[in-house]
Amino acid sequence: MKETAQQFIAKSTVKAADKEHRRKINFNIGKYNAAVPQGKEQFVNVTLAREKAKNIKWKALETLDKQLETFEAIITNRGAKVIWAENAQQALDAIKEICNNKNCKTLVKSKSMVTEEIHLNDFLKKNGIESVETDLGEYIQQLDGEPPYHIVTPAMHKSKEDVARLFADKLGTDPKATPEQLTLTARKVLREKYVQAEVGITGANFIIADIGGIAITENEGNARLSCSMPKTHIVIAGIEKVIPTLSDLGLFWPLLATFGTGQKVTVYNTLITGPRQPGEPDGPDDMYVILLDNGRTNILANEKQRESLYCIRCGACLNACPVYKNIGGHTYAATYSGPIGSVITPHLKDLGEWKHLSYASSLCGNCTEVCAVKINLHELLLENRHEAVEHGHASFAEKIAWKMWKQGMLRRKWMNAAGSKTKNWVVNTLVKGWSAQRGKMEFPQKSFNQLWREKHGSK
Ligand code: SF4
Repeated sequence: MKETAQQFIAKSTVKAADKEHRRKINFNIGKYNAAVPQGKEQFVNVTLAREKAKNIKWKALETLDKQLETFEAIITNRGAKVIWAENAQQALDAIKEICNNKNCKTLVKSKSMVTEEIHLNDFLKKNGIESVETDLGEYIQQLDGEPPYHIVTPAMHKSKEDVARLFADKLGTDPKATPEQLTLTARKVLREKYVQAEVGITGANFIIADIGGIAITENEGNARLSCSMPKTHIVIAGIEKVIPTLSDLGLFWPLLATFGTGQKVTVYNTLITGPRQPGEPDGPDDMYVILLDNGRTNILANEKQRESLYCIRCGACLNACPVYKNIGGHTYAATYSGPIGSVITPHLKDLGEWKHLSYASSLCGNCTEVCAVKINLHELLLENRHEAVEHGHASFAEKIAWKMWKQGMLRRKWMNAAGSKTKNWVVNTLVKGWSAQRGKMEFPQKSFNQLWREKHGSK
């Protein structure tokens, strides 16, 4: 077993038994579960809305090259510069070059999973640039030296008491401070950073092809400040974020808000179509858009997995997943956790190294049930398992186990020949770890086949 898989199992075992962790997650996801049905009421037919969104993303991804080129041509016309990055290093090098040219010492950034994916903050720190997270949840995580726990709610695993203790430790505030007081403290610190920063970095919730624009949606106004206060704005976005037209936002903005947080629409919604234009009073002088591949074209080339690129990162599948709720976001040790993370991480990174994530599923299908764009997540998890076997990543023990199972299943006499005692012994003793977390398996004395014959007298 690979080391990443061993660590995953070790961390899962500890986290799943951590009742305090479960209490906090259940509390926060409980609030989410209460809000989402209200948000869904805004749709006349929410299933139809999800299907329509899936179709739009299908169209966007099937014509991805054209959509991105259209976007590039239009936004370039308005003075932005588009940079194509094949991998994380190319994106980091481009950001470094821009920062060097702008003599950047401080950089503000809004929440962006892509910047987590390329480990931007560590890179900037090594290069002597202070990178400040401006989303409150991300700011909390940055203060604590932790990556985001959840793709929408980075500090979901922390209670208000945890945050008060952290602020007291790092910023000298009252350990009994209320959430309002803590927020005001963060706001005071961050407001000064917006003024100091030479460069602002944001992600993009959507890349809109027909107007050459970027759509950003957020609840705190920090992304808008990050892209408008500094003189230089850098956007970094995965190439799959594209939607064909501005009118598609009429569906995607409410859909993302509802499935992400239960809101009808998120508080701040911003469209950016270039840097400050002549005659405009404010906005950045320069704007760069980095379009990141970093393994996404591997997924695009895989017809079955392609639909995982439709994801709008609403986080609904994480909140619905019984595995995620038990083992928590950090256990995955990957940028994208939960069901969507388990689907895409093996393709963004390495199938052999990360295939174990696709086995960490009960295949209950709840993720598929709640997905904002109807991605068949649980089937893609199965497909990952299938591809792992096809590519020769199954372990020797697994291959032997399946061979034995197949032989047994093909020969009913063999199955009947082994009595319940033998079956109990095989499962409880030979199947490693079976009884570590479960009661012992007790096979009935007679098999179903024997009972059937006794009752019906047939074979
Ligand atoms: S896979 Fe679906 S439910 Fe999960 S984050 Fe993406 S859009 Fe949301």
